[in-house]
Amino acid sequence: MLQDMAVGRLENEFRNIAARAEDIILCFHDGQVLLRRDADDALTLPTLSQLGATEAPRYVFRLQEKNYFLWTDREPAACQGFVYEPVRQLRQLQSKEICFGIMTGWHLFNWYRNNRLCGGCGAETVHDEKERMLRCPVCGNMIFPRISPAVIVAVTNGDKLLLSKYAGRAYTRYALLAGYTEIGETIEQTVHREVMEEVGLKVKNLRYYKSQPWGVDGNVLMGFYCDVDGSDSIRIDENELSMADWFPRDALPTQDDGISLTREMIRTFGEGKEPKNL
Ligand SMILES: [Zn+2]
Repeated sequence: MLQDMAVGRLENEFRNIAARAEDIILCFHDGQVLLRRDADDALTLPTLSQLGATEAPRYVFRLQEKNYFLWTDREPAACQGFVYEPVRQLRQLQSKEICFGIMTGWHLFNWYRNNRLCGGCGAETVHDEKERMLRCPVCGNMIFPRISPAVIVAVTNGDKLLLSKYAGRAYTRYALLAGYTEIGETIEQTVHREVMEEVGLKVKNLRYYKSQPWGVDGNVLMGFYCDVDGSDSIRIDENELSMADWFPRDALPTQDDGISLTREMIRTFGEGKEPKNL
């Protein structure tokens, strides 16, 4: 999956340091990120020296033994040979470590941008010196990064798996069911509710599989397998889905992309390796 690194894990703890010439700078503007696409389609992000800048960016994390900073000027950065590309479309396996860095940086960028002012009293916030937290100097409000929990659900029916397609979205491939956890709800209740809302099925035997940070939407995704409980007759919510159907284990119409939890879960079911009922 996107977050699985061959070397150099994500080191996300906050550090109060200045950027050096060789550090990577994530420059976001209007939903896009500044990068270079090399001849082999590999992605490269600009360094501080390539941007010709000497300061300003905000440290966000260390990934694959490189420091990542955010460009914080309101004016978009420019760099010879680099162009802006939409953050949402960057999920290529070949440069997946960089894609993960962009997604995670994007999550933090949005948090910083949306919390410049205190939501309680409207004063300008300041960064804490020791941890990743914004503080309001007027009312004392403390603002921590926000992560939205969501579930990915693989509903099984013997040797069949429920696959669906979203309605009205750019993403047109087969997907599993998915949805956000509501306030006051357990993760398990999210699974039951989302499946009922989207396809009208009752489910049982929830088995947790794995999770995945998905910074593009500010999520952490939690993947579950479960079994249909009773009738397997599907009734789709046409606002959410364009189709949903049962597909046999040996004829699943997608392949793992090495990026998403959804695709890994579909492949794992195809191989018969999903967590089983005890
Ligand atoms: Zn305040």
